[in-house]
Amino acid sequence: MTTDFIAPRVTVTPCPRCDGDFIPPRCATSRRDGRTRICDPCGTEEAMVDFFAKIGADAPPEWRQRERAFKLKLGVKEGD
Ligand SMILES: [Zn+2]
Repeated sequence: MTTDFIAPRVTVTPCPRCDGDFIPPRCATSRRDGRTRICDPCGTEEAMVDFFAKIGADAPPEWRQRERAFKLKLGVKEGD
């Protein structure tokens, strides 16, 4: 006897911020434009970048690099 197993359909989506993958609805909305879907870790990273800026500290260089590249991709000005 066989039992059919129907695998749930998952849509693996590339994260436009880090080029990693995520599976909606497990994702975050970018704080940079308020609508672009990014992966969960990137959502946390954006929040941390904002926090570092708020306390006047330098975020790690690789975070700032990803941040610059993503803002460029979105067409969001630096400092916005
Ligand atoms: Zn990401």
